[in-house]
Amino acid sequence: MADENVQSLVIGDVEIVRVVEWQGPFAPTRVLVPGCGPEVWQGRREELVPDHWEPDSDHVVAALQTWVVRSAGRTVLVDTGVGNGRERPSNPLFHRRQGDLPGRLERVGVRPEDVDVVVNTHIHADHVGWNTHDVDGEWAPTFPNARYLLPAADDAHFGPAGGYGGGVRPDDRLTYEDSVAPVHRAGSATLWDGEHRIDDHLTLESAPGHTPGSAVLRVASRGERAVFVGDLLHSPVQVLHPECSSCFCLDPRQAVASRRRVLERAIDQGELVIPAHFGGAGGVEVRRENGTFALGRWAGRSGPASTSGRPARY
Ligand SMILES: [Zn+2]
Repeated sequence: MADENVQSLVIGDVEIVRVVEWQGPFAPTRVLVPGCGPEVWQGRREELVPDHWEPDSDHVVAALQTWVVRSAGRTVLVDTGVGNGRERPSNPLFHRRQGDLPGRLERVGVRPEDVDVVVNTHIHADHVGWNTHDVDGEWAPTFPNARYLLPAADDAHFGPAGGYGGGVRPDDRLTYEDSVAPVHRAGSATLWDGEHRIDDHLTLESAPGHTPGSAVLRVASRGERAVFVGDLLHSPVQVLHPECSSCFCLDPRQAVASRRRVLERAIDQGELVIPAHFGGAGGVEVRRENGTFALGRWAGRSGPASTSGRPARY
């Protein structure tokens, strides 16, 4: 039976499995994407309901999730969700959350010790949470054999050197202390800057703006391509209106420039765009239409997990 919390797709020799931690109405549209007015949502109602917009409450529907990427014989996780038992007083959805992401990973054949590489596209609470878990009251790496790849600019900004994000949001310090510092202490962190090649198919690249170190992960194999864009996009309306940044973008102007650059290239090179928080299928083709960006074909809908047969080809 298909698991609604799992979707899979294939890019050349790379297999990608989406494992959802939580999904639902996340925040009011005017709060999450303040630049996009109600006419934008109404005008695209058919494309946005139900996976990306709940019209009755006017909430953005979003997912918190991780992506399992099987590439060159190794298992890579892209972002690690919110985690369990975190003190996040400014976010009721994240605060002291208890979920079963490790169980869901295990059901697609990924035990903690199987993970070789963890990619954090940036250091926000919903991208680094399962980096660690509680072991006898101490936070320790959840994936004991993994190398954790962290953007150096985010580590500097959100770590002690940057006053934990300049002290703007108290949760940033808590996040760094429970989800990033323990990875450093275990000697499992690698900081990178600019560009970082993981293997023949996977390359990390800086795309700052949402945070100083925000990254995209490019996938290329046998002529097929995808790009994990992290929080460059929170909703498909930002593909249609790339000038609209989210309320969480620390440098909105830089975020717009990175969003446009990455989307232009995705079109030119035929990359499937896979944002961190889209509901539904999780990824979408982007096209040019009348001088702007348009939504193309969505990635495969709910399909079998990799352990129960050949995953759906994107
Ligand atoms: Zn996020």
